[in-house]
Amino acid sequence: MKIAVIGAGTMGNGIAHTFAQSGYSVNLVDISQDSLDRGMNTISKNLDRMVAKEKISAIEKQETLDAITTYTNLEEGVQHADLVVEAATENVDLKLKIFESLNKATKEDCILATNTSSISITQIAAVTDRSDKVIGMHFMNPVPIMKLVEIIRGYNTSDETTSTIMELSKKLSKAPVEVNDYPGFVANRILMPMINEAIETLYNGVAGVYEIDTVMKLGMAHPMGPLQLADFIGLDVCLSILEVMHDGFKNPKYAPCPLLVNMVRAGKFGVKSGEGFYDYTEHRKAEKVAAMFS
Ligand code: NAD
Repeated sequence: MKIAVIGAGTMGNGIAHTFAQSGYSVNLVDISQDSLDRGMNTISKNLDRMVAKEKISAIEKQETLDAITTYTNLEEGVQHADLVVEAATENVDLKLKIFESLNKATKEDCILATNTSSISITQIAAVTDRSDKVIGMHFMNPVPIMKLVEIIRGYNTSDETTSTIMELSKKLSKAPVEVNDYPGFVANRILMPMINEAIETLYNGVAGVYEIDTVMKLGMAHPMGPLQLADFIGLDVCLSILEVMHDGFKNPKYAPCPLLVNMVRAGKFGVKSGEGFYDYTEHRKAEKVAAMFS
């Protein structure tokens, strides 16, 4: 089975790595040569770590890298694929355009999967003429390590497509879970209201950042507090997923907390911008990250 992965960013390079390490031949496609170079570099570094821990041999590392070919041209990269996993930037218009192109450029029987966190699979499938073969394959970050893959059935996704993708996920040594296509699917539908409530608790002055995260870490055995987790996911990403759920269900319980909205407007996106609920600027980064995992 030949695999093509669209997007070589955080998720795309992890997905390409995972397939290649499981013995699949992977074409990694991105519009940016820079992203492809950075993606391959990340894969190589992650494989080095596995070699150092003696989880794989140096030969397996080389075989994994050799199984991945990079492309900046989508048509070339996907023409022989049996499965495409799209992991490009989270933007509806962009994904609809990519799926229109994939519909034309791939073989008729090629399955088209998306790693979207929040966009409707049914909406994406509607721009193709094979909605039975369109499915959500929602990997978690970091992909080579996290076991779960949320497999999302769009309204028209067939049983055959679903079972192919469930079985394939198992071959990647992942644990696939089948869910239906409603806003937030399952993972974010449960996680995001918890994060939003933690922000609301802070906004209401019930407790401080450290106290809220400590309650959830030490009291509920969460490996990371919800505010820290929000910083890692990206506050802009959390806001956009909450907006999708608020809009999709028309239910005020998903309304993003005004503090979250303000922080995103102020450019505080969490780890990636250097500041969110915690400060990640260079001089404080090491001590903060160390504190998080202590
Ligand atoms: P990212 O910004 O790290 O990477 C996106 C990549 O897509 C970039 O390299 C960009 O150059 C590329 N791209 C943009 N337009 C393209 C096009 N037309 N063709 C090919 N490549 C294109 O984003 P990410 O965090 O890897 O997220 C990718 C997808 O995965 C999104 O749908 C996101 O919702 C989902 N997701 C992200 C996470 C996470 O924790 N980051 C977790 C689960 C799912």
